[in-house]
Amino acid sequence: MTDYTRATATEQAAALAAGDVTSVELTQQHLDRIAAVDGPVHAFLHVSDEIALTAAAAVDAARAAGEELPALAGVPIAVKDVLVTEGIPTTAGSRILEGWVPPYDGTVTARLRAARMPILGKTNMDEFAMGSSTEFSGYGPTHNPWDLDRIPGGSGGGSAAAVAAYEAPLAIGSDTGGSIRQPAAVTGTVGVKPTYGGVSRYGAIALASSLDQLGPVARTVADTAALHEVMGGHDPKDATSLDEPVPACTAAVAQGVDGDLKGVKVGVVEQLGGEGYQDGVRSRFEESLDLLRARGAETVEVSCPSFEYALAAYYLILPSEASSNLAKFDSVRFGMRVEKDNVENTMRATRAEGFGDEVKRRIILGTYALSAGYYDAYYGSAQKVRTLIQRDFAAAFGKADVLVSPTTPTTPFKLGERLDDPLAMYLNDVATIPANLAGIPGMSLPAGLAPEDGLPVGFQILAPAHEDARLYRVGAALEADLVASWGGPLLAQAPELEVAK
Ligand code: GLN
Repeated sequence: MTDYTRATATEQAAALAAGDVTSVELTQQHLDRIAAVDGPVHAFLHVSDEIALTAAAAVDAARAAGEELPALAGVPIAVKDVLVTEGIPTTAGSRILEGWVPPYDGTVTARLRAARMPILGKTNMDEFAMGSSTEFSGYGPTHNPWDLDRIPGGSGGGSAAAVAAYEAPLAIGSDTGGSIRQPAAVTGTVGVKPTYGGVSRYGAIALASSLDQLGPVARTVADTAALHEVMGGHDPKDATSLDEPVPACTAAVAQGVDGDLKGVKVGVVEQLGGEGYQDGVRSRFEESLDLLRARGAETVEVSCPSFEYALAAYYLILPSEASSNLAKFDSVRFGMRVEKDNVENTMRATRAEGFGDEVKRRIILGTYALSAGYYDAYYGSAQKVRTLIQRDFAAAFGKADVLVSPTTPTTPFKLGERLDDPLAMYLNDVATIPANLAGIPGMSLPAGLAPEDGLPVGFQILAPAHEDARLYRVGAALEADLVASWGGPLLAQAPELEVAK
């Protein structure tokens, strides 16, 4: 039997449609791969093998009966543990939710099930999506498949690592300040943060509601496009959900692969590069710009001066919203309960034990920033900066159709290296955070390996709100030329993981 775990989701869907493999076989191959490599990688917090195989058997039966099926029917998927899944434990990487089995599905979960995609399990993440390395998970870190001593990025390190290690062809991520794009960059995978409101947040455990967005994770741009079309679209259960058609992502991929980029203006953001960016990150970024120009795109320099304050504004707005969102974990409604003599002490003991240090740090920061007398000075100022950043983007998009930058300043660092230095950890997201503050869509795709350490570098593309299709057109064109230059996908250059017997 052919092993399909290295095939793309698009190829897997074609093999299913052609009858070359069944969904049960395909799902079992991925479950076997998880059993073989996930010990050391630790991408999964929970593997839902029975649920996946039952869904796979049902889709096989439907196919055999000649039913018309959605494009990705039968292709298995991994889901970040931030998304609520009925009957499958959901923890958001926190001990405070240990053992919680949701009684309902988030909208994206429901759409995956309606698309007949077997859910392989829940992926590891920094607790409540706070972090850039997955080291703040309450259940131990995920390891980067390129080098098990290095971080897979965060907060969605589990989803990126699962896809990079061929444990799943597709995964769901969430991006509040970069948690889809940054893990994609450091694992050599593709991740997309859609326009704010483009994918329903109903049933996604909230970190910062004005920034959060769910999105697709995969090994190719075409696969993220296919998954985006499954996830996206209006949802009356989310008041911020956009009431407009899902972007034509797969059509844009075809346009990008087949066509040139004549007339497309690519803005290189002056503030997202240069000093503080690793040499190999910069050289790979420059090479990608050359490829875009060779396809006919015109590159222009754009300046976004307010980006200098983006990180500071983000780390006031995010903790403020998070401190309010996390108030619901009160020992009464969900998960863990440390019983004490009265309600207040029970609540205090539960939150003290259930939350990790980073979560506590942000709750304290946010509560302080929102307190009477400080609100205007901190939260108010941060909101003003947010407006300036949005104006910078508006001006930049007046000069360019898409904006580009390296996704992260460096390749993946060693586990433990930045654990005691919150500011160094926060700096991973300097290039990804502005998009969240403005609500615009962004993509990271592999740009090659940094010559100095042989580790993956990510290329970021940003587009105006509602113009997600531009990411797919430009991303697919660049990816096609990069893959041709490498003689195959970048992940083919990753070292083989040791397989458990
Ligand atoms: N690393 C950022 C943070 O710690 C982004 C997190 C995210 O996007 N969920 O907040």
